[in-house]
Amino acid sequence: MKKTPRVATALLLAVLAVLAAACGKPGSPPAKGPRGDELPKYQVQTRFQLTDSPTWQQAKRRGHLVVGVKEDQPYLGERDPSSGAYRGFDIEIAKMLSAALGFDPKSLTYKTIASANRETAVQNGQIDYYVGTYTINDLRKKQVGFAGPYYMAGQSLLVRKDEQDIKGPKDLAGKRVCSAAGSTPYQRIKADYPKAVLVAYDTYSVCVDNLLTFQVDAVTTDDAILLGYAAKAPDELKLVGKPFSEEPYGVGLPLKDPALRFALDDALEVAEKNGNWKKAYDATLGLSGVPAPKPPRIDRYR
Ligand code: GLU
Repeated sequence: MKKTPRVATALLLAVLAVLAAACGKPGSPPAKGPRGDELPKYQVQTRFQLTDSPTWQQAKRRGHLVVGVKEDQPYLGERDPSSGAYRGFDIEIAKMLSAALGFDPKSLTYKTIASANRETAVQNGQIDYYVGTYTINDLRKKQVGFAGPYYMAGQSLLVRKDEQDIKGPKDLAGKRVCSAAGSTPYQRIKADYPKAVLVAYDTYSVCVDNLLTFQVDAVTTDDAILLGYAAKAPDELKLVGKPFSEEPYGVGLPLKDPALRFALDDALEVAEKNGNWKKAYDATLGLSGVPAPKPPRIDRYR
């Protein structure tokens, strides 16, 4: 049957309606999780060898890598409680590095490790490397090695939507401020804003619960983390002020394994050049509303 113009128009409209429903309307809240179909596929480097890395050697004997991550940071490191699956930008970084080291990302074993326990987890060999909003700094560099940085975040503040008094860190005097124990944001408030009443928990999600139930007045950590919580509860939460630190994210690994560190630096650089880094970002952290930045320069420090 030959389609009349009217039938064709009706068909087109129907197709458009289906497409619109699938894509979400402009201005609608971000999708609930990373879009799995748009995640990069990482080519496993099956012939890869790194014989002078003790960590790599041990993983080879074991048959897979063990990585430390976060499980409660939207778009960065999130664990689905029903399936147990991990997803987010940090998880993608962990996967791309696994593939570069010759291990199928599907074989990765994830361990959730809180901010305060990262150094010990790396030092005790509980994990091969750690990818979880982990700021590179000189103090930590004495305890673990860092590949990267692969992303630059900055400390910020999350408050309830109706908060009027807190516009920046200077307004925190006498306010209850929550952060994670063992984190750089916690340390910075303690050192630079001593009049704030600091409250520490193991994780930021507990801080956010405390904010929503009026137990604290603000949550402080990296903007990348806070944007995720705000995107999931846009009617209840907002970020305020400008970022007031630089938090270069690195991949934590055993201190005495420079071969592994430089191999991970290489792998990050390759992913930044071949588009995988941006593709991973767009499908994960990009969903909290910030377009992909240019990744920071890899620092192969000696
Ligand atoms: N990037 C900061 C840190 O490494 C805060 C985020 C976190 O605790 O993971 O301490």
